[in-house]
Amino acid sequence: MFRSTTPAMRRAALRGMSCLFLATPLLAQQPLTVGPITARPGEKASGYLEVPAGVDAATRIPITVVRGAKPGPTLALIGGTHGSETAPIIALQRVRAMVDPAQLKGTLLIVHIANLPSFLGRTIYYSPVDGKNLNRVYPGKEDGTVSERIAFAITSEIIERADYLVDMHGGDGNESLRPYTYWNKLGLDEAVDAKARDMALAWGHDHIIIDTTRTKDREKSLYTQNTAHIRGKPALTTETGAMGLASEDMVQRNVNGAFRMMRFLGMLPGPVEKVEAPVWLSRYEVLTSPETGTFHATVESGTTVSSGAVIGYVNDPFGYRLAEVRSPFDGEVMYVIGTPAMNKGEPVAMVAQR
Ligand SMILES: [Zn+2]
Repeated sequence: MFRSTTPAMRRAALRGMSCLFLATPLLAQQPLTVGPITARPGEKASGYLEVPAGVDAATRIPITVVRGAKPGPTLALIGGTHGSETAPIIALQRVRAMVDPAQLKGTLLIVHIANLPSFLGRTIYYSPVDGKNLNRVYPGKEDGTVSERIAFAITSEIIERADYLVDMHGGDGNESLRPYTYWNKLGLDEAVDAKARDMALAWGHDHIIIDTTRTKDREKSLYTQNTAHIRGKPALTTETGAMGLASEDMVQRNVNGAFRMMRFLGMLPGPVEKVEAPVWLSRYEVLTSPETGTFHATVESGTTVSSGAVIGYVNDPFGYRLAEVRSPFDGEVMYVIGTPAMNKGEPVAMVAQR
């Protein structure tokens, strides 16, 4: 075969080889510094990303950098975007302990608790400091309120360094939820969407929402996942947990998802697993309350409902019924509010359809 090549082809082949030799030292893993934390190849290091004071008080973000001994992709796993969604937070403590940097190819960036004010303040949806939803203010602002400054820090320090991202949610403190994943079928870059689809299958939840509703505006990306995805980094939002609890089964499902993802991305040895019978949900709707009062669910999460079925009702403080909430189509209840407090316009349930 070699005799049939031309001198020009052989010169080109040699140039290719010399390029390879030159490139080899560049491929070797270097130490990585994120904020004040540096991890050398084969090390894991933990510490805090500082979010300086601005119009309100300072906060900080606990992170771990696991620098693999060998080169490979960078995966960001983010917990605690909503502070009361605790199963992923506890799971990430286990992931940190379990992952072996000597085995790892690439880098794992763990954000243990993105929203420390919400976690310590035990709030749902909103920060106790500025009243904002961290998962609606991305990519954030360096000079904004604390939720915006947290988003800015995560965008610039974590998302910009990542190749792939999973924003790990669970049922908030009031949400009775069945596990599911959002696949962002954004439509900006088919390759990014396709990789994210495979990531959704790798994570392990069989119920997967096909989300085509996210904005394509890079400067108003709103969601953690969408901020990465718009920037060409395939990303998921996963929902694993319920009612603010870190129950053992939900913690374990988060841990399993993290390791399945690292194997899928070639970061750890071992078999790649994919969901065998995914339930693709192409239509979903968040039902909201028409009244303020006490909410009473009449179905459980995971229940199949038909169009017009009552999901729950709202009473006034004295116990008189104000309104019923009905399913707008045949579908499955992904989550339903499990505690009585209810404000007009807030979610009462999410129903999804194949
Ligand atoms: Zn959440």
